[in-house]
Amino acid sequence: MERKTILILGGGVGGQVAANALAPRLAGRHRVVLVDKQREFAFAPSFLWMIVGQRAPRDIQRPMETLLRKGVEIVQAEALSIDPARKKVETSVGPMNFDSLIISLGAELAPEKVPGFQEAALNLYTLGGSCRIQKSLEAFSGRKVAVLIASSPFKCPAAPYEAAFLIQDFLRRRRSAAEVAVFTPEPYPMPTAGAKVGEALKGMLESRGIRFHPNHKVARIEPDARHYGIGGPPPGCVADGNKLVFENGLSETCDLIIGVPAHQAPRAVRESGLTNEAGWIPVDRQTLATNYEGIYAIGDVATIPIAGGKALPKAGIFAHSQAEVVAANILAQLDGRAPLVKFDGKGWCAIEMGGGSAAFGDGDFYAEGGPEVKLYEPSHYWHAGKVLFEKWWLAPFGPKRQALRLALTLGAKARGIPVSL
Ligand SMILES: Cc1cc2nc3c(=O)[nH]c(=O)nc-3n(C[C@H](O)[C@H](O)[C@H](O)COP(=O)(O)OP(=O)(O)OC[C@H]3O[C@@H](n4cnc5c(N)ncnc54)[C@H](O)[C@@H]3O)c2cc1C
Repeated sequence: MERKTILILGGGVGGQVAANALAPRLAGRHRVVLVDKQREFAFAPSFLWMIVGQRAPRDIQRPMETLLRKGVEIVQAEALSIDPARKKVETSVGPMNFDSLIISLGAELAPEKVPGFQEAALNLYTLGGSCRIQKSLEAFSGRKVAVLIASSPFKCPAAPYEAAFLIQDFLRRRRSAAEVAVFTPEPYPMPTAGAKVGEALKGMLESRGIRFHPNHKVARIEPDARHYGIGGPPPGCVADGNKLVFENGLSETCDLIIGVPAHQAPRAVRESGLTNEAGWIPVDRQTLATNYEGIYAIGDVATIPIAGGKALPKAGIFAHSQAEVVAANILAQLDGRAPLVKFDGKGWCAIEMGGGSAAFGDGDFYAEGGPEVKLYEPSHYWHAGKVLFEKWWLAPFGPKRQALRLALTLGAKARGIPVSL
């Protein structure tokens, strides 16, 4: 039998799940090659705990090879360009040909799209940014913290709201009376989950004293020049008096700005000819196939329209299940079977609230009339589940990981949540 190459671009959530599903079943028969520019994997949901001092970088980062099964060929390199017609990828270590390609390169952060963001805001979406937020909050003596969402789409629609809940909780424990406010271009929190969930989350924000400013799309940030001179503060420094200027004509002055920057597909993807006018890769909603045979896109880099003129949110839970679908169908094809597994648009997430408590959302995003999402009341149970999930992700393959998987699956089953890991 001819030896085929399955090339996976990106070793984040989607890439790891796909590689780990394929490699043990293809051992020796076909190659599974995973390309990532990073050596280390950081578990992004834990950035939220990092900012309030509940995690350190060593707790949430692992060398990528410890999370990948035997048989995955790991290449540390940057994907520079993708030629879908010739089935070829150019990388920083040379060209690579493939028979099947899984693009799971995620979303690239583009803070430069908002003037002043890089000078005056701290980036919630990177490990380094989360560390700086932690240090800034430790030393914080100001009066106002802004959590700023620069634009949509952004990954994990819940994350900025979790940040606001955790920061408010952190400040209150320190007896700080500082105000926490969220500024977003969205009409209500997590709009893809529907107005009912959005209103419930808004209520949770307001009941904790967090001010919510919808329909606020930031135009620019004017860094405070009083303390740092014309150039503004150096990157990552906390300045007081940074001014947020919005497209609706309003403005707000804040001591500390914690920002979710604009997102875009990585350059190799943008220039591949695979993207739509919005810059993401459109895929079949059930198979994740692109317009080119043998090429799939999963996770944040892909876009899938759903009812109500919206797109499936960018979230790890979807990258995870999409990777399983694509892997199962590639395996079937290699074995001469029909590729019958379909992605069902279902997903869940725990929403950290502070104080060891989390709410929980569980939904069907492919429901015909628009996403049907159920929001469960905050409890320690969901928080404990999220901690277990983190431990499972970061555990090397072996008995400990198996035990965590069992605990998670049984815990979810007890609450009627279908979780397959
Ligand atoms: C603060 C925060 C909290 C979050 N919380 C949750 C949560 O609770 N639940 C949830 O479901 N999701 C959450 N997410 C979202 C989740 O992390 C992403 O949706 C998920 O990681 C997407 O998986 P992916 O495989 O598409 O991309 P990624 O996991 O981002 O992986 C992309 C990989 O591609 C690599 N790469 C990029 N460009 C190149 C290139 N040119 N060459 C080589 N390699 C490249 C990157 O190094 C990276 O390893 C959160 C995100 C953040 C930032």
